[in-house]
Amino acid sequence: MNNKKLFLILFMFTISQALFSSNTYAENNGIVDLRILETTDIHAALMNYDYYQTKTDNSIGLVKTSSLIHQARNEAENSLLFDNGDHLKGNPLGEYLVRIKGIQKGNIHPVYRAFNYLKYDGIAIGNHELNYGLKFLKTVLKGAKMPVVNATVYKAKTIKPYFKPYVILKRNVLDNQGQSHELNIGVIGFMPPQIMRWDKANLEGKVIARPIVEAAKEFVPKMKAEGADIIIALAHTGIDSEPYHPETENAVYYLSEMKDIDAILAGHSHGIFPGRAYKNLPNTDINEGKIKGKPVVMAGAFGSRLGIIDLQLEVQEGIWRVVKSTAFTRSIADENGNPLVKTDKKLKKLIKREHQETVDFLKKLGL
Ligand code: MN
Ligand code: MG
Repeated sequence: MNNKKLFLILFMFTISQALFSSNTYAENNGIVDLRILETTDIHAALMNYDYYQTKTDNSIGLVKTSSLIHQARNEAENSLLFDNGDHLKGNPLGEYLVRIKGIQKGNIHPVYRAFNYLKYDGIAIGNHELNYGLKFLKTVLKGAKMPVVNATVYKAKTIKPYFKPYVILKRNVLDNQGQSHELNIGVIGFMPPQIMRWDKANLEGKVIARPIVEAAKEFVPKMKAEGADIIIALAHTGIDSEPYHPETENAVYYLSEMKDIDAILAGHSHGIFPGRAYKNLPNTDINEGKIKGKPVVMAGAFGSRLGIIDLQLEVQEGIWRVVKSTAFTRSIADENGNPLVKTDKKLKKLIKREHQETVDFLKKLGL
C-alpha cells in the first residue's frame, strides 16, 4: 500500500467517524425545550372590562393574557397553547350571546374567534360549557378550529365518548443543536363527574359522566399504544389531597401519580399553582411547580394569568423522556390591579362588536 492510498483510507475513516459521532451525538444528546402554555376558567372575560361596575378592569381579560402569550411564545423555540375549559360562561357578555343575540349561522362565538386568532393547539371542555345545554355547545363548537377534548362525558344510550377523549398532535420541534424532530404529543381532557348534579336538567338522559382517574386509566395506555411520545392532561379539575373516590371533583393530585402523564394543566377551582395556597400539600414543590414530581400549572381565572410549563425532553434508549421541568404563572396585573402588560389591540378589534353590544344592552336595561 502506498502512502497516498493509506492517507485516503485514513481520511475516509476519520470523516465517517466524525459523521457517525455527530449523528449519535444529536440523537442521544439533543435536548428539546418544549413550552406549554395554559389559559383556564376564562369565563367569557375576553375584555379587560367589569360589566357590573361598567368600567375597565386591568386584572382580567384575554386581551391582556394575549400579550403574555405572544411574549412567552417569542421566548421559546417550541411551544403549545391550550385552554382548560370554563371559557363560555360567567359574565354578561356570555349571557347576552346565548339569551339575547344567539349565534347566527356563519358567525363564530367571540370566545372561539379569539382562540382561533391565538392559534390554540387544543382546548378542554369545562363543566360550565354545559350550562347552556348540549345543543348550544355543539353549535358554537363548530366555530372552533382547534381540537376539543374530553374523556369523561359519554352518550347515555351508547356509552361512547360524547367528545373526542384525546388527540395526538404531530409537531416538528427543534432541539438545542438545531435538529428537527417530529414529536407526537398526546392531549387528553377531563372534567368533574359532578356535572350530572350541577346540570341535571340539561344532561339527564343525554349523557353520563365518568370518574376522572378511571377515564385516564383507560385512555392513557391507548394513547401510548398509538405512539404518543408525551402526554399532556387538560384537567378541568382542581388540586386536593383528600382520599380519592369515584366522585372526586378535584383529581389533579391523583392524575399526577400516573406514570405516562407528563404534564398537567389544572383548573376549575380558580387557584394559582404553583402558589402559597398549596404550600402544605404533601409531596408538592411550590418552587418548581411539581406534585409528586410531575409538572402542574393552574392559571387562576378570567385571564388574570398565563400558566407556563417548561419541559426539557431527551431521547433515552429510543424513548422521549422529560428530563427536567418547571411550572410557573405570569400575571397580567400587579396586586393593585395596575396592568403589567399591554392590551392586544388586534384581539380587541376582533371581539369589540359583541362587547359593545353587551355594554349597550346593559345600559338599556338601566343596569
Ligand atoms: Mn371555572
Ligand atoms: Mg369549572
